[in-house]
Order: sequence, then C-alpha cells, then structure tokens
Amino acid sequence: MDKNAEKIWTNCLKIIRDIVEWQHYKTWFEPIHPVSLKNNVLVIQVPSQFFFEYLEEHYVNLLAKTLKRELGKDARLEYRIMVDSGNSKNKPVTMDVSGQGFKTFSNNEMDFPLIINNPVKNPFVIPGLKKMQIDPQLNHIYTFEAFIEGDCNRVARRAGKTVAEKPGANSFNPLVIYGGVGLGKTHLAQAIGNEVKRLHPNKVVLYVSSEKFINQFMDHSRNNAINDFIHFYQLIDVLIIDDVQFFAKAEKSQDAFFAIFNHLHQSHKQLILTSDKSPKDLDGVQERLLSRFRWGLSADLQVPEYETRIEILEKKMKNDGLEMPKEVVKYIAYNISNNVRELEGALISLLAQSSLNRREIDLDLAKKVLRNFVKSSSKEITIETIQKMVCEYFDVSYDKLLQKTRKREIVQARQITMYLAKAFTKNSLKTIGEHFGGRDHTTVIHSCQTVKDLMDTDGVFRENVLELQQKVQLAAM
Ligand code: ADP
Ligand code: MG
Repeated sequence: MDKNAEKIWTNCLKIIRDIVEWQHYKTWFEPIHPVSLKNNVLVIQVPSQFFFEYLEEHYVNLLAKTLKRELGKDARLEYRIMVDSGNSKNKPVTMDVSGQGFKTFSNNEMDFPLIINNPVKNPFVIPGLKKMQIDPQLNHIYTFEAFIEGDCNRVARRAGKTVAEKPGANSFNPLVIYGGVGLGKTHLAQAIGNEVKRLHPNKVVLYVSSEKFINQFMDHSRNNAINDFIHFYQLIDVLIIDDVQFFAKAEKSQDAFFAIFNHLHQSHKQLILTSDKSPKDLDGVQERLLSRFRWGLSADLQVPEYETRIEILEKKMKNDGLEMPKEVVKYIAYNISNNVRELEGALISLLAQSSLNRREIDLDLAKKVLRNFVKSSSKEITIETIQKMVCEYFDVSYDKLLQKTRKREIVQARQITMYLAKAFTKNSLKTIGEHFGGRDHTTVIHSCQTVKDLMDTDGVFRENVLELQQKVQLAAM
C-alpha cells in the first residue's frame, strides 16, 4: 500500500468520523482502502459499484471538502471498484473510475462547517442583497409526498400542509414541531419550505438550524453588524428554524431572535420552529420567547407504529428503485422501532451488506445485519454487571453467589447468571467460569442447560429469567 495515500486518507477519516453518524461511517467508510496518491489524485478502493454510486450521491461534498483540505484545491478522487474479489485461481478484477460529482464541486463551498448533501452559500455576502437572491437552503428530497402520514404525525403533517398553502395567513403561527431524534422534524419542516416554494415561488423562504443562526449572530456581533443580521432575517417571508432547543443559554442570540420573531409575526410572515422538546419543557429559553411559541400550534411527532414503519420502508425502497421480499421488510419494521432514522439506517446497511457480499437480500441476511445493527448501537455488558443485577434481583450477596453453597436459591441464581452471561456477553465459557470462583467450562455448559430445562418446566422460574433478561437488555441499550 502507498504510505502517502494511507496518511492522507487517515487524515480525511479523522474529520469524516466526526461528521458522519457512526453507523454510516462504519457502513460506508470503513470498508474503503486507500490505494495510491499521485499528482493530487487519491485512488481509493471500494467494494462494489453500489458503494461507488452511494458515495458519489451522498458523500461527494464531504469527500471533496476533506480531501481538498489535505491536498489543496486541485485534489481529485478516483475510485477502484472491486468487480470480482477473485480466489486462489483468479486474480481480483477491478475497474477504475474518476469521481464525477467531484469535478463539478466548486471551491467556494470549501468553508467549514460542512453541511452534507446541502451546500450552503452564505446569504450575507452581497450588500444591498435582493430578496430573490436568498437561497432557501432547502433539500429538495424532503417533500410532503415522501413524508408518510400515520397516527404518529397526522396533526403535525396536516398543520404543515395548511401552513404551506397559506403561509402567514393561518392560525398556526408559529408552527412548532417537536419530537425525539430521527422522527422527522427536519424532514417535515423542510417539506413545508419546499411546498411554499412550489405553490408561491415569489415567497422568500429560509431554512436555518438554530446552531447556524447562533454562529452567524456571533460573527456579526464580533463585527459590530448585528443590525445587518437582524435586517437580513426581517426580509424573510417563511422562516424555518430547526432545533431551537440549542438556543438554550445563548442569551444574546435569543434577544436577536426575539426581535426578528416580533417583526415577522407582526408583518404576517410565517415562522416554523422545531424542537426536541415541547415548548413547555424548553429549559434555558427565555419565557418571553416561549410564550410566543405558544401563540400558534405545537404539534408533536411520535414514534411511528408498525404499519407506518412498513409504509415508510416501502416508500424509501420505491424512491431508490429497490426491491426486497415482503418478509424482510416486515422483519426490519418489527425489529427497529425507535425512530425513522434507525429504520433507514438498517435498510441501508442491509443494502450495503448485500452488495458487499454479492448476496441476495433475504431473511437470513436481514437477521445477520440487524443483529450487528442493534448490537453496535448498544453498550457492552460485562459479566460483573450481570452478576450485580442477579444479586439485586434475588437479594443474595455477591460473595454467596460465588461460594460453593448448595442452597437451592443460590445455585439457581448462579446458574441464571451464567446463562445470561453466555447470552449477553462475548466471553468464552472458560472466562465465564473463572468469574464464578474458578469453575470450569463444563460447569457453565451444565448451568446453561439446567436453566433452559427449568424454563420449560417451571413457570415461576421462567418468569424470573425472562424478567432478568429484559433488565439486562435494557441495561445494554
Ligand atoms: P429529526 O429532524 O426529527 O431528527 P429527520 O427529519 O432528520 O428527523 O428524519 C430522519 C429520517 O427519517 C429522514 O431521512 C426522514 O426522511 C425520515 N423520516 C422521518 N419521518 C418520516 C416519515 N413519516 N415518512 C418518511 N420518512 C420519514
Ligand atoms: Mg433534525
């Protein structure tokens, strides 16, 4: 391997790792190998055509920015795609292509912070800026059409539609959309923006995260240009501020936002805000702002129910032209129930694995991938943790658990602990035995078997084990 290529790529990864969600990083960046570096051209090897296309579609900006930071503005990226990984008789077959998206990527977008999939132009650059020149900063993929309706989001989605049809002239001003991570706040807020643009092309729409708003504010404050800042925002017809919970403690930014809010509201301009908490629970945000948030409508997004999860998966597949057996879709929807982002993450991991291993997507593969998916996002559970939990549960002391007593309750508690340690940790039977006062691996096997047998025959015992199992599972999340 080329040492320089490796060094440059390692530096790129350091940045990428901080920006891309962990699961995506693991899926898309870890399998990449740097091959060579010549005349500012870095060649990276990717496992398949699908990988190449995915990277080009979703991460080209990120790759360009990081690589240009390392190699200067003439940096370019080429891909070596694995067509066939070869075997003892045949050499691997690869194909070299240059990154297409990379070439069209312009240099003035190099400023950090990086915004993936959504190159940002600084809206403040032009003095005497005309309204129509303001870039709304919307991502066109976030539409109402792509936002599946369910009981979980009906009120918010419909209110959003109304707002988009009659921005400023409705009773949902501001519209506050709130809910946990990955439930669709950004998608819905952007969908409103996109729909306004479609229905009312002359309206000036701006989407901005509260973090960006705060950063811009601080820049302007340093340059004594707060008035310019406020004035700019007062030009907007539909202002969308994402994740307002980050306003907490940013007092000065809140003052500026207060002024902007009042001006826009009085001029019948529309405000759309999102937050990870209901306005009443937004600690650190000034009361005068919170009371204004309550003027309009606060609508929450809940975790989608099973049927909606299936619909969402099917929609994503249709949009990306993908197919997979219905039973696999059901399996994913059933097992990934926390939020929509994880649901998508699981779908994408599955595609990546199928492409990586040149394997059709079937239930077996789905089970394998989801197992990793669930595990990777969870904490490592240790034998000690399980011992502690069992001791607490049965109210026996840790010492007793390890002693050579034949008291039935203690023996059973010990056996259950071994059984759980086997099921929830990656330790060998030998290691598990060592954690129980140096018992050998046959004792552990015997314990696991006894627990299984007792679970079949003794209802109370079974209840106990299942309850403990649940506790361990929860602790692992
Ligand atoms: P949040 O901003 O609440 O953290 P996002 O808006 O980023 O969540 O949503 C996470 C992902 O889930 C996005 O890719 C989004 O398109 C998708 N998503 C969320 N809700 C839905 C829905 N009802 N229908 C289709 N996709 C959805
Ligand atoms: Mg968001």
